[in-house]
Amino acid sequence: MANNDLLHNQLIRLGDMMGDGLHLEPGGKWIEKEYGKIVKALGIVPKRKRYNNSIKINEAMLQAVVKFKCKCGGNLKQTRSGSMIGKCSECGNRYRLLKIVKRKAAKAEE
Ligand SMILES: [Zn+2]
Repeated sequence: MANNDLLHNQLIRLGDMMGDGLHLEPGGKWIEKEYGKIVKALGIVPKRKRYNNSIKINEAMLQAVVKFKCKCGGNLKQTRSGSMIGKCSECGNRYRLLKIVKRKAAKAEE
């Protein structure tokens, strides 16, 4: 079952990337898709780690949308569960409200 070993390795790699939140970055959608494909191919249940991650994000987002307002004065709303993007309910502007904390290269921004 060499093929399954390959898939398992890939799954771990993708899982790590999602642990870093890379699948939430612009253009990171493929990570989630690929992960789902491999999970299906292997017939296993996705790791719970990712789920916990989005719960944490959701909690932080709940506080963030209270603190931040759109430049038009409208209220922001989390686009979907697990997303770090807030969308203005008035004009539809999107804002990144949370920053991903990377395990490596934790250099100060701004
Ligand atoms: Zn707005």
